[in-house]
Amino acid sequence: MNQDRTPFRIEYQPIITMETGQLDGFEALVRWIHPEQGLISPSEFIPLAEDTDLILELGEWVLKNACRQVQQWRQNRPYQALNIAVNISGRQLLKPDFACEVSEILQDLGLNPSSLTLEITESIALESFQETVGALNQLRANGIQIAIDDFGTGYSCLSRLHSFGASSLKIDRAFISQMGDTGERSEIVEAIIAVAHSLKMRVVAEGIETVGQLDRLRALDCDWGQGYYFSRSLPSSAVDELLKKAPNWIESADRLAPRLN
Ligand code: C2E
Ligand code: MG
Ligand code: MG
Ligand code: MG
Repeated sequence: MNQDRTPFRIEYQPIITMETGQLDGFEALVRWIHPEQGLISPSEFIPLAEDTDLILELGEWVLKNACRQVQQWRQNRPYQALNIAVNISGRQLLKPDFACEVSEILQDLGLNPSSLTLEITESIALESFQETVGALNQLRANGIQIAIDDFGTGYSCLSRLHSFGASSLKIDRAFISQMGDTGERSEIVEAIIAVAHSLKMRVVAEGIETVGQLDRLRALDCDWGQGYYFSRSLPSSAVDELLKKAPNWIESADRLAPRLN
C-alpha cells in the first residue's frame, strides 16, 4: 500500500502501567478516512476486510507502520522502552510464514521482539485450534508477546486460554463499564484478574473512563490500564506533542495509600 495514497490512518492509544502511572506504550488502532463518509470505525470495516485477502495487506501495513512509528518514538529519552500492541486477525495469524514476516519487519527496524505485543481474540481459534497454537508458539519462540483481547466476551475457555501461552489478557471494556463509575461492582473483574495472575498472565483493563474505576482496578492489582480516562487514540502528531510533556498519568498515588502499607 502506498503510504501517501492510502485512505487508512493509524492512531495510537496510550497504555499506562498502573503501579507507577508511567506510559508503557500504545495500542495501534486503524482508521479509514472515507472521501465522502469521513472517518469509518474499524468495527465496521475490519469484519468486511476479514472476508477477503484485503485483511492480509492491511494488517501487514498496520504492523509495519506501527512498529516503525514506535521505533522512532523510542529514539527520545525517556522512551527507549516504549511498547507497541497491534491487533491481528485470524487470517493473518494462519498465513504460512506469518511469524517469519513479523520477525523480518522487526529486524529491518532493529526493534526488540519483546517490545511487540500481538493482540488476538479468543474466537480466533474456533475453527483451527492446532494451527493457531502452532503459529502462536512460533511467534513466542521468536520473542514476541501475545495478548488475548476482549477477554470475557467469547467462550473464555480456560484450558484453551492456557494453550495460547499469552503473556497478557485484556479485560473487555464491557466488564469495566459494568463496574459502574465508582468501580463498586467489581466481582467479575476481580475474578478475571485472579485467574489471569494464577496462570502467570498480566492484565490490561480496557475502557477505563472514570477515576473510580481506575482506583478500584489499581486496588485489585490490575497491571495496565487503557481508556478515555487517560486518553483516546491519537494521531501520531498528537503523540509527538504528548511525549514532549512526559506526563505522569496517575497524579495522585496517595489515593491508594491503604494498598501501599
Ligand atoms: P480493540 O482491539 O478491543 O480496541 C479497543 C477499542 O476500544 C478501540 O476502538 C478503542 O478506541 C476503544 N476504546 C478504548 N478506550 C475506550 C474507552 O474508555 N471507552 C470506549 N467507549 N471505548 C474505548 P476502535 O479503535 O474503534 O477499534 C475497534 C476494534 O477494531 C478493535 O477493538 C479491534 O478489534 C479492531 N481493530 C482496530 N485496529 C485494527 C487492526 O489494525 N487490525 C485488526 N485486525 N483489527 C483492528
Ligand atoms: Mg485490541
Ligand atoms: Mg479489546
Ligand atoms: Mg474489540
